[in-house]
Amino acid sequence: MQSPWSEELLRLAAVVLLGLIAGLIAGALTVSLLVAVSLYLAWHLRQQHRLYNWISAARNSAPPDSNGLWGAIFDQCYRMQRRNRRRKNRLRTIVREFRQSTAAMPDSTVVLDGNNRIIWFNSAAARFLRLRTPSDVGQHILNLIRAPEFVAYFNNGAFDEPIEIDSPASRDIRLSLQVIPYGDDQRLLIGRDVTRLYRLERVRRDFVANASHELRTPLTVITGYLDTLADDDSDSMAQWRRPIQEMNRQATRMRQILEDLLLLSRLDAQPDPATDTAVDVAALVAEICQDSRFVADGEVNVDCSTATTVGVRGNRAELHSAVSNLVQNAVKYSDSDAQVAIHWLRDGEDACLDVVDSGIGIPAEHIPRLTERFYRVDTSRSRSRGGTGLGLAIVRHALQRHDATLEITSQVGEGSRFRCRFPASRLTAARADANTSATCAANDVAG
Ligand code: ADP
Repeated sequence: MQSPWSEELLRLAAVVLLGLIAGLIAGALTVSLLVAVSLYLAWHLRQQHRLYNWISAARNSAPPDSNGLWGAIFDQCYRMQRRNRRRKNRLRTIVREFRQSTAAMPDSTVVLDGNNRIIWFNSAAARFLRLRTPSDVGQHILNLIRAPEFVAYFNNGAFDEPIEIDSPASRDIRLSLQVIPYGDDQRLLIGRDVTRLYRLERVRRDFVANASHELRTPLTVITGYLDTLADDDSDSMAQWRRPIQEMNRQATRMRQILEDLLLLSRLDAQPDPATDTAVDVAALVAEICQDSRFVADGEVNVDCSTATTVGVRGNRAELHSAVSNLVQNAVKYSDSDAQVAIHWLRDGEDACLDVVDSGIGIPAEHIPRLTERFYRVDTSRSRSRGGTGLGLAIVRHALQRHDATLEITSQVGEGSRFRCRFPASRLTAARADANTSATCAANDVAG
């Protein structure tokens, strides 16, 4: 079979030959050749015209009949057209299926363009976010979801974690919203109904807070009677002295657990983050250092140093509780003559509060779980030292509310370092009247 191109060349040769023969017979070679080539060109123009008409008009119709090169061109175009049509249909089906599945999802989905205007949303978004079709399509998302927490989250641009807000449609619905950037500067806003979890969490929190609160009163009555019995030094009480002492010890431990549970519940219930005041950390460190020396009673050496006078924006009581828990642990888990040091220093943009001890140390496998409630490495040592198992959970909560993180490094038998890292966004300018050297004594390198 000849290729379309050789067929076309043969056709041209035949036209020229016919022109030549006709020219020789008529004795007008040039005119005859001109007429032959013009007819040939006219035929080509007609084929082009047919192609143009077919491409611009025909959607599904078969290509015009032709042969040679033009027949091949029509065939190729037809095949390409059919391939494109099949591809388009496949894409259309995928998009339709994607939209149908997204529309059927219980989670709300809103597609935003590069200017944060709504392109599309599913029915769950209409229900949870009170969006309406078609009036809200093309609207800026912040014109429609105006909860201040969401506006701050959206403008902040840190979308690693979701944010929880009350649904704009009903205060009884709690939504977890997360922005997911994709493609060319586009964003998906995904919303999940977390009302059940939120209520369960609140029930859990309220239960712990109420139970701890309710247990306090009977415990106070019991310890009151125990104190009275302990004061009775009559002979008839001699055999009860030791049991009463033990009961008193256990009651004190129970009270400490209740106090810690109540503190944790309070931290849990506070809205994030804590932004009350500028806390002078150097002064706080000095105060805790002095208190700890008193508690350690010379058994463990407690020192502190402050290499910066920057403060932290937050809640002083919560920071005090976090740092003193760390220092108490350092003392508790160190043998006599060990060293405990508190340092307040800059590390790049951040500021760090380190509590370092030369105590018993912590095996590496326990470190990731230390801040869980009631997690202990050595339960009997913790109990015998008055530990509640809640100290580091309190530290984690208090730090979280200050955007700070807890870094723990430790070597068994050598000691541990608990580093509270505060980001630059939390730091306040050094106080002009800050005078840390007065309380931190010899170890100060304040600057
Ligand atoms: P606890 O009241 O038992 O001290 P925490 O939550 O404060 O509870 O600490 C959890 C556990 O972490 C402790 O039981 C202890 O095993 C370990 N731990 C905490 N701080 C230190 C430390 N400085 N050195 C060694 N172990 C520590």
